[in-house]
Amino acid sequence: METNIYLDAGHGGYDNGATYNGRKEKDDNLKLTQAVGKALRDKGIMANFTRVNDVYQSPGEKAQIANEDMADLFVSFHRSSSPVPNTYNGVEAYVYETGGDNEKLAKEITNNLEEAGFKNLGVHVNKNLTVLKKTKMPAILLDVGFVNTDSDNKIFDENFDKIVNAIVNAIIASLGRREQQVAEEGADYTIQVGLFRNPENADNLVASLQADGYDAMIEPMGGYSAVLVGRFSNQEEAEKTEEKLQNAGYETFLIER
Ligand SMILES: [Zn+2]
Repeated sequence: METNIYLDAGHGGYDNGATYNGRKEKDDNLKLTQAVGKALRDKGIMANFTRVNDVYQSPGEKAQIANEDMADLFVSFHRSSSPVPNTYNGVEAYVYETGGDNEKLAKEITNNLEEAGFKNLGVHVNKNLTVLKKTKMPAILLDVGFVNTDSDNKIFDENFDKIVNAIVNAIIASLGRREQQVAEEGADYTIQVGLFRNPENADNLVASLQADGYDAMIEPMGGYSAVLVGRFSNQEEAEKTEEKLQNAGYETFLIER
C-alpha cells in the first residue's frame, strides 16, 4: 500500500501567522511545503497538501483533511517568531508524544536542517497544538527558523534547495523504516498443526501433511516439537490455508510472531 504523506502549510488567508517587515509566515510555509511536495512527487512518493493556495483553514480543519484522506504521515510547516526581532535563531520540531516514528522523523529533519545552515533547537513535546492532537497518524510540526530574525531568513532564502532536500531526505528515510517494519510484520504468520513431546509423532504428522501437499516443518518449542505449516505475509492468506487444513481434518492454531 502506498504511503500517503500530508504536507500542511501553516496558516493561510487572513491568518498570516507571524509577520516581519512585510514578510508573512504563511507565504514561506506555502512555498516550502510546495517545494517539498514537488520533490517527493518527483521521486514517485505520494504527497498531498492541506492547502495549495492562500486560503484560511483552522488547525482543526487541517487535521480533519488529513484524517479523512487516511494520511499515513502529517508534516506541518511553520516558522517561529519571538516578541523582539533578531533575538533567537534556529529550527525546532514539535511532537505530541515521544518514542514513535514521528519523533524519529522530527529528529532527523532538525539534524538535516542543521547541516543546511540552521541552529538546531531540537524536538519538543507539545500537547496543545491542534494539528498534532487531532491528527490520527504520526504527525510533526516544524518551525523552520525565526521569521523575525534576519540571519534565519537569509538561510531560508539562500539555502532554500538545501532545506528542501534536508526535509525530503528525512521523510524518505522515515518511509524506508516504515516499509521495512510493514514487511517484517507481514512475514509473521504460520500455522501450528501439532505440538508433540515425542518427536516421532511430529515426524509422522509432517509426513502426512507433506503427502497432502503442505509445506510442513518441525520447530522446537519449549521442550516440544511443533509442526508448522507455511509462512504467510498476511493473516488472510494464513487463514485460508488454515481452513483447508481444518477441512482435511487437521487441528490448527494460527501463530503470529
Ligand atoms: Zn505558524
